[in-house]
Parts: sequence; C-alpha cells; structure tokens
Amino acid sequence: MEYISTRGNYNKVCAAEAIRLGMVPEGGLFVPESVPALGLEEIISNKDLNYQEIAVWIFEKFLTDYTREEIEKSAAAAYSKENFPVDNVTPLVKLDDNTYILELWHGPTAAFKDLALQVMPYLLVIAAEKSEINDEIVILVATSGDTGKAALEGFKDVEGVKIIVFYPEDGVSHVQKDQMNTTGGSNTEVVSLKGNFDDCQNAVKEIFSDKDFKEKMKRNSYQFSSANSINWGRLLPQLVYYFSAYFQLLNSGAIEAGENVNISVPTGNFGNILSAYYASEMGLPVEKFICASNDNNVLTDFLNTGEYNINREFKKTISPSMDILISSNLERFLFEITGHDSDKINKWYNDLKQTGSFKIDKNTLNKIKEKFVGEFSFEYEAKAAVKSSYEKYNYLIDPHTAVGIDSLSKYRSKTDDYTTAVVDSTASPYKFSRAVLESLKNENITKDEYRIIEELNDLTGFEIHRAIAGLEEKETLHKRNCKKDEVKSELEDILEL
Ligand SMILES: *Cc1c(COP(=O)(O)O)cnc(C)c1O
Repeated sequence: MEYISTRGNYNKVCAAEAIRLGMVPEGGLFVPESVPALGLEEIISNKDLNYQEIAVWIFEKFLTDYTREEIEKSAAAAYSKENFPVDNVTPLVKLDDNTYILELWHGPTAAFKDLALQVMPYLLVIAAEKSEINDEIVILVATSGDTGKAALEGFKDVEGVKIIVFYPEDGVSHVQKDQMNTTGGSNTEVVSLKGNFDDCQNAVKEIFSDKDFKEKMKRNSYQFSSANSINWGRLLPQLVYYFSAYFQLLNSGAIEAGENVNISVPTGNFGNILSAYYASEMGLPVEKFICASNDNNVLTDFLNTGEYNINREFKKTISPSMDILISSNLERFLFEITGHDSDKINKWYNDLKQTGSFKIDKNTLNKIKEKFVGEFSFEYEAKAAVKSSYEKYNYLIDPHTAVGIDSLSKYRSKTDDYTTAVVDSTASPYKFSRAVLESLKNENITKDEYRIIEELNDLTGFEIHRAIAGLEEKETLHKRNCKKDEVKSELEDILEL
C-alpha cells in the first residue's frame, strides 16, 4: 500500500514515510493510493474480535510496510486496560431503540483524540527507525484544546521525539489549559498564542512548508512531523472504532449483519467523520454521514451549496474543539470523492488561499449529497440537547456530543429517516463542565471551573473522569506565550536553533 499526495505534487511513499513526514512537504496531504475493499463476509466474520484485534486487522491493510509484530505491539500497548479502563475501549451506549452513543472519551485525557494519539507515537517511532534518518523528531501541534493534551500524553518521554504544542490563549477552557500546562515529561513544550485556532494551525502549516526553516532544522539534526489530523497516523486508528461500533450493534442484536447505519459526527477538522467515510469505503455498511457543526457552520453551508467560504465571523462557542473555519481533512475527502482529481484540488485550494472561498462543481456536490448531510446547532440548541438527554435518559453529554445529537434529530425530523444511528461522543462531560452545568440549570454560572466540576458531580452523581480529578492540585509547568508572527522565533528559542 502506497500513499499519494492530494495535490499530485509528490512521489508515492510507503505508510511509514507518510506518517513520518506528517504532510506532503510541498503542500497537500497523504492519502492511501486505494482503499482496500473488504467483502461483507470478511467484515462480519470479525465481529467477535476485541478492540486490539480489530485494530491489528485494519492497520495491517494500510500499514503494509510494518510487520505484524510491530502492529500487534503498538495496538496492545495503546489499547490496554490501563489506558482505556472499560469494556470494548469505545463502549456503545443505548439511548433509545435507534440511537446509540459511541463513547470515545475513556482514554487518558478524556477526549476522543486519545484513540489515535495513544497509538500514533508507536507508529511514528517505528517509522523513524525504518527511514534510517536519525534526526530527532519535532512534533508541532496546533490545538483547539483536546489534541494538545492528547498529543502531549501520547508523546511524553518518547525517546527521539520532542513535542511542542501551540494553543489559542483565549480559545480553550481553564481545565484544558491546566491539562496541557501541567504535563510533565522531559520532551514537552506548551505555548499559548495570541490568536484563534486557525492562527495556530496556519502558523504550524506555514512552518511545515518553509524550506529555509527546515534546512535550519536539518543542520541542527531535527526533523518535523505532525500529530494533527493532517497526519495519516491520526486518521487510521479512528477507522477502528467504527468497526467496533458496528460489531457492538450487531452482537447486541440491534441490527442484522449488513444492515446500514447512520453516523452523526460532531465535526471540526473533518478528521473523525473522514475516518468513518474511509471505513465505509472499506465496506462497513453506512447509509448517511451527518456532519454536525456548531455556529461555525462553514461545513453545513458547504454541504448544502457546494461553496466553502471562510469569509465570515469566527465564533467562540461552548464546543470549542469545533471552532474551526478551515477543516483540513476536507481536502482528503474531496480528493477521494472526485476520484483523485488533483487538478481540481489544486484549483480549489488555490482559490481558498487567494479569496477565502471555493466552489465545487455540481457533479461533485451531487455525489457528496448522496452520502453526506450537513446540519448545525445554535448554542441554545446544543444546551437544550444536554438538558434533555440528561432529563430523558439520565445520560450526561458534553456540548460537542450535544451538537451531534441535535444535528441527528434535525436530520430525522426533516427526512423521517430513523435508521439506527450512532452518535460519536467525543469528550467526557467533565471536560466542559461549565457549559454542561449551565445547560442543566438554565443559568449563567460564573464560579471557578473546578467548583463547577464538584457541583456537577454532586448534582448528577456521574463519576468525574480520572483526567480531571485531581488536576487542580497539579503544578503548572509551562508558561510560554507568543504572538502570531512570533511562532518561528519561539521555536528557535525552544530548539536552540
Ligand atoms: C477534536 C474534537 C472534535 C472535532 O473532531 P475533528 O476530527 O477535528 O472533526 C469534536 N469534539 C471534540 C471533543 C474534539 O476534541
């Protein structure tokens, strides 16, 4: 299995190389040359595998330059009971007869990103060994909150790797800030940036494609890689839980073998939903993908009109991990859906860079609409979904998951399509407890986030996630701060270039 660039501007590389490089050095993203198609029979025959075994089965299809032993070791270490102390790693919870919640937040940092970032360091270290380039790997991360901590936890104290995280100083919650800034490890750095998430992401992307800076790195025996979902090593692990979810439905008798399901994904960078799409391209029976957005509804508009337009106000919402205007992985999706037409991708992404928007052709849009639906939730609607899910089902959800649930119910009432649906629950409610408690009590709450966590726990009895419990007492270890245009000099300082 080889990997090609969405922009048609790079030679084919093996999986290890795609993961080591993170993104195409000339711009563009690596995608598998073709997606391995599995017959329904093969899929169903694996329904009794445990999570680690499903991971090995799927990884082997895409990481053909890794040995079975390398893959098995990585999956076993990442998806251990210690890292995910629940049955099935990503347990499926029934809300009602045709609505299921896929809990993706049982990992060490309480957000779904652990599913990828617990395993990716293993895949990357193996990739570096295979490449025989001995330069120290520097992972640059732009985060809207959750990726940062998940990446820090995954990479901390991994030999031969340094990790540097940039987050928007006013764009993450108190708890998210503390989670990142208290991370130990001799190879971790955290920098807050005066700007929003897109500023962080742009700064990191710019550095990745800055030839002079990379030369300088090379002279100092460093090489860059990425732990953002532009790295294939982030997307691949996410395919696994869609298979796991399907098998859990099947094994509980909720669906028949081969029956289609709908999947609703609270979406930001389009990584999670893209993984679901890849799983369906492999043969997993999916009817519709509901792309659920918050007030930053660029994707909703795009899926409805074919125009992607970021010339709009950036809004800060109670689901900050989805406060994104430029969804990086959409590029991969468009490359797939156009049958690998890199001319189109180049044109659209050039337009986006020049004018802040692009418009796709009718054919492509129609093709997308066969499978994808865009819905979004206003803040009050997400809050209402938190409240009603607690009152109706005694089930506590975070504001991102609430957007997924609300979007699903909008889709259902518009279409009457009540196909069995899986809603991704992307974070523990305790990670966003202010918004959750405000939703439950219908009032603004100004007290400190840690007191809110206690109150939420008193009120609902829901167990506080271990990533949050005890966090307040931890010592702050990272205090760096910089302006948008200082990212390069900050890096020079950290790496002593
Ligand atoms: C990252 C994140 C998302 C968005 O996922 P994408 O793969 O970027 O679309 C949604 N919810 C939470 C809690 C997240 O951390």
